[in-house]
Amino acid sequence: MLQEIFLKKNQKKKINLLDFDLTKMTNFFLKMGEKKFRAIQMMEWIYKKYCIKFNKMSNFSNTLKNKLNSTSIIVLPKYVKKIKSLDGTIKWNFLFNTEFIETIYIPEKKRATLCISSQVGCVLKCGFCATGQLGYTRNLQVSEIIGQIWFVINKLNQYKLKNLILPTITNIVMMGMGEPLLNLKNVIIAINIILSKYGFNFSKNKVTLSTSGIVPAINKIAGKIDISLAISLHAPNNHIRNMIMPINKVYNINLLLLSVKNYLSKSTANRGIVTIEYVMLLNINDSLHHAKELVCLLKDIPCKINLIPWNPIKNSLYKCSTYNRIINFSNYLKNKNFIVTIRKNRGSDINAACGQLISK
Ligand code: SAH
Ligand code: SF4
Repeated sequence: MLQEIFLKKNQKKKINLLDFDLTKMTNFFLKMGEKKFRAIQMMEWIYKKYCIKFNKMSNFSNTLKNKLNSTSIIVLPKYVKKIKSLDGTIKWNFLFNTEFIETIYIPEKKRATLCISSQVGCVLKCGFCATGQLGYTRNLQVSEIIGQIWFVINKLNQYKLKNLILPTITNIVMMGMGEPLLNLKNVIIAINIILSKYGFNFSKNKVTLSTSGIVPAINKIAGKIDISLAISLHAPNNHIRNMIMPINKVYNINLLLLSVKNYLSKSTANRGIVTIEYVMLLNINDSLHHAKELVCLLKDIPCKINLIPWNPIKNSLYKCSTYNRIINFSNYLKNKNFIVTIRKNRGSDINAACGQLISK
C-alpha cells in the first residue's frame, strides 16, 4: 500500500514532454547532463515519427531511455468519443478528470481544418455562445492543446494505413472551447510547437487564433508571435457589443481596434490582414444601418470580414439572421470594397459548429 502511494506520488512528478517546445526540451536535456541535439531527436520522434514510447526511440542508449523513463512521460489527452457529422465533420471528445473538451476536424476536398480548444469552458459569457453558458473550469496545459493536434494527425495516419484516406490537416484554428488569450502562457508555447520545424511545422498563414478581444494580451503578443489573427467583433458599436459580449465593458471597440492595428504593424502573417468575425443575429446586429456603421469602424483596418450565421444553442433568445438579411449585409460591405465571406455551417447536426461546443 505504502509502496503504491509512493509510486503514485513519483508518477505525478514526472514531466510530460508534450508540454515542451524546443527551447524547453533543450533545457530539459541539458539539465539531465545530455547533449543539446538530444532535444531535436526527441522532437523528431514525437512530431515527425509520431512515436511517443521511449523504448522505441532507437537512437537513444538504454541509459538515456532509463533516465527518461524515471523522470518523464509522454501522455496525450484521453480520447473518449468520436462523432461524425453527415457532412464529414468529426468531433473528438477528450476527457480530463471529469471534464470534456472538444476538437473538431473539418474536411474539404483537398484540405482540412482542425479547430482546437484552449480552455475547459470560458469565463467570458458571451450571450450567444454555448461555451460561455458553460462557465469556466480551467486552462488547458500545453500538452492538452498540442495533444489534440497530435492525436488527430496520428489517427489520420492510422486510417491511411487502412486505406481510409481523409484530407490531411492544412489549417489549425484556435476557435474551439475557451478564450486562448486568457491562457496566454500555454498558448504561446503551443503556437511555438505548431509553427516550429521541429514541431508540426505549419505556416503562420495557416494558423489562426480567434479572440474576443483581450487587449493587453493582443498587445503583449504583438511582435512576439506571428500567426493569423481573428477578432470576434460581432457588433458595429459599443452599445450592441456591451449587450452581447460583456468583455466589451472592459476593453471597448476603440481599444480593441487600436491593439489590432498594433498587432498588424508587427505581423506579416495572412498578408497583414486581420479576420473580423461577425455573428449574424436577427434584428440585433444585422440591418443595413449596422453594416454602414461597420464600414466606418473598419475603414482603416486591413481586414477580411467573415459573417457567421448564428448556430442555435439551448436556452437562448437569439435567432439567426435570415438568408436574405445575411446576403444584403454582405453585399453592402462588398460594395464598399470589403472582402466578405459567409462561413459555411459545418457539423451542426453533432453540435460541432461554432459556438456549440459544450462539454457534456
Ligand atoms: N473565445 C474565442 C474563440 C472561441 S469562439 C473567441 O470568442 O473568439 C470561436 C468563434 O465562434 C468566435 O468568433 C465566436 O464568437 C463564435 N461563436 C460563438 N458562439 C457562436 C454561435 N452560437 N454561433 C456562431 N458562432 C459562434
Ligand atoms: Fe468565450 Fe469566445 Fe464563447 Fe465568448 S465567444 S464565451 S469568448 S468562447
